[in-house]
Amino acid sequence: MGRLDGKTALVTGGNTGIGREVCLAFASEGADVAVNYIVREPEAENLVRMIDARGRRALAVKADVTREDEVRAMVQRVLLAFGRLDILVNNAGIQKAQAITETTVEDWDRMMAVHLRGAFLCCREVVPPMQARGSGKIINTCSQLAYSGRARYTAYSAAKGGLLTFTRALAQELAPAIQVNAVAPGLIDTGFDPLPESRKREIAESLPLKRLGRPDDVAPVFVFLASDEGRYFCGQTLGPNGGEVMP
Ligand code: NAP
Repeated sequence: MGRLDGKTALVTGGNTGIGREVCLAFASEGADVAVNYIVREPEAENLVRMIDARGRRALAVKADVTREDEVRAMVQRVLLAFGRLDILVNNAGIQKAQAITETTVEDWDRMMAVHLRGAFLCCREVVPPMQARGSGKIINTCSQLAYSGRARYTAYSAAKGGLLTFTRALAQELAPAIQVNAVAPGLIDTGFDPLPESRKREIAESLPLKRLGRPDDVAPVFVFLASDEGRYFCGQTLGPNGGEVMP
């Protein structure tokens, strides 16, 4: 028996990296999964085939999470295909390391839009059907930088800090029927942050656990929060980060 048997999930930015591993883990635990993406369609279609092969229903849905019309259409499509939506993972993200003096208004606004407006729009669409059913789980992918910040990552850190507080506020608003929580990973080796290998080795060495994270270090935390095992978590942020930040 899977821990998510009979459940359905939508994972934004689900085609690659952390989101991909979460989709696979959810499917392995019995969930049907909608995989959102914006550009890399072959990765999304390939993942759908892998989930199909595990005997679960899967759907690739292209949508820019910053666009109200596209998010609405995406959620409608998922509801039509699966008949219900039990789990939303707000995982879509972008990264751009730059000094504040090099950051344009467009850079800043895009960072806020993908991480914050995207989570807001997706939550606004899924909450009514979840409330109608009387249950639901929402999990937001934050970052350890939400706590610590990092030089040259000011926009990203601010966006993730905002997402952490969004999680806490929404958790209070929607409980007890809908549980809202977050996961704040440390550096996970997905290519999201294109650091040179030497810098990655340096960071790994500085961590108490002495290695960078992998998507499969993080995905089980999402499964835990999405499953009944996470039933007493509300507005929490769990941090698989190798010990780098201990909030
Ligand atoms: P990734 O493989 O590059 O994943 C980013 C995902 O976001 C991709 O699926 C991408 O879709 C999607 N995306 C970007 N903009 C979008 C938009 N406007 N609408 C819909 N989808 C959009 O990197 P990752 O490492 O797995 O990152 C996933 C999440 O984890 C992000 O929120 C990131 O901030 C967070 N995180 C990552 C790390 C890390 O070290 N890797 C650490 C902490 C937190 P396409 O592939 O179609 O472009």
